[in-house]
Amino acid sequence: MMRKEEKINYDVAVVGGGPAGMISAGRAAELGAKVVLLEKNDSLGKKLLITGKGRCNFTHYEFDRDKLAEKFGKEGRFLYSALDHFGVREVLNFFQFRGLTWQVERGNRVFPKEGNAQDVLRILTGYLREGGVNFFCNSRVSDLEIIQNGSEKFRIIYSGRELFSKRVILSTGGKSYPQTGSNGDGYHWAEKFGHTIINPEPSLNPVETAEKWVKEVQGLTLKNVSLQLYLEGRKRDERFGEMLFTHFGISGPIVMDMSKSIAQHLKKGEVKLVLDLKPSLDFQKLEERIQRDFQEFKGRMFKNSLQKILPSSLIPVIIRLSAIEEEKKVDYITKEERKRLVHLLKELELTPTELLGFPWAMVTSGGVSLREVNPDTMASKKIKNLFFAGEILNLDGPSGGYNLQECWSTGYLAGESAAGKN
Ligand SMILES: Cc1cc2nc3c(=O)[nH]c(=O)nc-3n(C[C@H](O)[C@H](O)[C@H](O)COP(=O)(O)OP(=O)(O)OC[C@H]3O[C@@H](n4cnc5c(N)ncnc54)[C@H](O)[C@@H]3O)c2cc1C
Repeated sequence: MMRKEEKINYDVAVVGGGPAGMISAGRAAELGAKVVLLEKNDSLGKKLLITGKGRCNFTHYEFDRDKLAEKFGKEGRFLYSALDHFGVREVLNFFQFRGLTWQVERGNRVFPKEGNAQDVLRILTGYLREGGVNFFCNSRVSDLEIIQNGSEKFRIIYSGRELFSKRVILSTGGKSYPQTGSNGDGYHWAEKFGHTIINPEPSLNPVETAEKWVKEVQGLTLKNVSLQLYLEGRKRDERFGEMLFTHFGISGPIVMDMSKSIAQHLKKGEVKLVLDLKPSLDFQKLEERIQRDFQEFKGRMFKNSLQKILPSSLIPVIIRLSAIEEEKKVDYITKEERKRLVHLLKELELTPTELLGFPWAMVTSGGVSLREVNPDTMASKKIKNLFFAGEILNLDGPSGGYNLQECWSTGYLAGESAAGKN
């Protein structure tokens, strides 16, 4: 039953207390709007707290707007205005001004220098408090409708209560990691208001492989390797960097970044992944290198001769796949066997079977079609006074801080627009 006294009127109601929702609510309030933020979990920013393994890679150290936007593929141009308005520099200043020291790490990822995601969250909740945002947790929004009662406004039903607001920002996230609260609720209302939803698919997702040997090396991280994707024998994608073996397949930055492309190609035909364990050496150089090692290890068994070029847990796997007798003395290894070994190290095949899916996807690709959202304001082109921010939009970038930057940029802009500034 609705409790009458809770029929409160707001200027701006933000649905979803993740990074995009918090920054938009804070910004709208800072500009003088009366703001409410509704979050269904018992606390704000549940997903934010697990970002960057709890350390929160909160942006990417790239000040060139076009280069940053490009990382979101063909949809990236949509971000131009938002990035011009509240880009990487502004995000760094925003957090630094509120006491966060940060550092740039490998691959231009920006993390809090000391501390972790909790500090980022603390700054955001502080921002909400500063502006006087009413934020309610344990408040799952179950319906959203437009009512005409003198003037047009939104009626929001949440946890058996209702409130009214002139403007609404939808920042309910995507469908990835639903255990953190993002289960796609926002798509439903966007659709109800006439928006097109581009089919949500898991992205930045670990990949299952047909090869069972991966289990033997689970936990092994490989740095500076190259991973290539072949569809029906033709190379279609390539990444360089760090990857990880898991008990079901492969993960780590380059795999996560390639996962969307793997999923798309799996729908088209036979996909093979080819791992180059030694991308800095061509076939000939690697063979020479192995010859030198064999020379040094003269008289030793093959199984005791690979420690200089391979991590120990991978050695038994490579030996088995090479079909070279493990106890054979390296002195007796034939040229053909050596070439087979080189081929394995440069072209180790992995067969992706499927992605692990939404429960393990870092982001969702797909969402509210960008054609129906004004990039200068984040306002719906279909419904007056409705705005979108964050992962609910059809935007997804690679790992490295891009996705949170997207949330800050679109959220800040949506907050300003909803407060009536743009
Ligand atoms: C394991 C992991 C690690 C990550 N690491 C990084 C990283 O280091 N750097 C980076 O840039 N990105 C990272 N990401 C991606 C990043 O977390 C997301 O891009 C970001 O959280 C999206 O923010 P959002 O505010 O749009 O949505 P979310 O963070 O998903 O927040 C949406 C909120 O809306 C709430 N909600 C949903 N429906 C309702 C409803 N009906 N009523 C009320 N509330 C509702 C949810 O409970 C949730 O709290 C990571 C993601 C994961 C899963």
